[in-house]
Amino acid sequence: MSNTLDNKILGKPVADAIMQQTADRVAKIKEQTGVTPCLATVLVGEDPASHTYIRMKLNRCEQAGIGSKHIKLDDSTTTEQLVATISELGSDPQVHGILLQHPVPHQINERAAFEAIPVSKDVDGVTYGSFSRMWFDEPGCFPSCTPQGIMLLLESAGIDLSGKHAVVIGRSPILGKPMAGLLLAKNATVTICHSRTKDLPALVKQADIVVAAVGKPEFVQGDWLKDGAIVMDAGYNPGNVGDVHFESSAKVASLITPVPGGVGPMTLAVLMQQTAQAAAQQLGVKD
Ligand code: NAP
Repeated sequence: MSNTLDNKILGKPVADAIMQQTADRVAKIKEQTGVTPCLATVLVGEDPASHTYIRMKLNRCEQAGIGSKHIKLDDSTTTEQLVATISELGSDPQVHGILLQHPVPHQINERAAFEAIPVSKDVDGVTYGSFSRMWFDEPGCFPSCTPQGIMLLLESAGIDLSGKHAVVIGRSPILGKPMAGLLLAKNATVTICHSRTKDLPALVKQADIVVAAVGKPEFVQGDWLKDGAIVMDAGYNPGNVGDVHFESSAKVASLITPVPGGVGPMTLAVLMQQTAQAAAQQLGVKD
């Protein structure tokens, strides 16, 4: 399967292949155990964007043959109530993966809610346990889905990361930080940049691989890049624009992910892949 076109790394063919492999794996799990892998999603409150994200996740579950259990809690839910709900899902043998849609309403201690998810069911990689195992390059955890999707895109494009200098712009717990850990585990030399970084363009100029996870439309400029750099744009901003100025960057980069159609499709495919993997582990099904 080729997922590059001109100098673009396309996410859809890779995401489609992951969805197909996942559907096959789910069918095998059902055949061997009689159990349907199940993802529980928990949504607190009425945020319209969160509702849309949950709907997309449930659609993908259906596409992969994964069962789903959706829990909707109202806006005034307390931390204790949310922790109790998640703990119940944690001990339910029919649930194999748990996803808490975030952000949660302000009165809730989001960290306490995340930590109620057992690592074995943390298919979105949000717990301390998942993060630290990922950072120590230990098995038995699932990384955050978008950075893992970026790793799979790099792999599918045949990029050997060993010894390459990767500059990650952004240090959020769901994107920049896990991204850095995953790149490090593949022997890249990693620089993590953030809002206090001095002379960002000069650092980006040294990068063989740039990952933009900033949340600012068209932030990274083509003239910041080293000739032939590989550019992975995790950004998704209103108007379907990424965190990289595509036109100027595509002229300099050897490979670049477009927005939309680059990193975007990978996140949900990885979530499905990790849910199937969690179910296989919990049910003792080997590959
Ligand atoms: P976030 O939590 O807002 O983090 C943004 C990061 O960028 C922070 O670490 C921040 O630094 C850094 N930053 C902000 N301004 C900067 C500047 N001028 N120079 C250098 N660094 C700067 O965002 P996020 O959740 O990581 O998301 C990042 C992007 O990815 C967004 O566009 C989002 O929409 C997209 N995203 C896409 C997916 C997907 O499925 N494709 C999933 C999640 C997110 P400080 O830490 O110093 O504040």
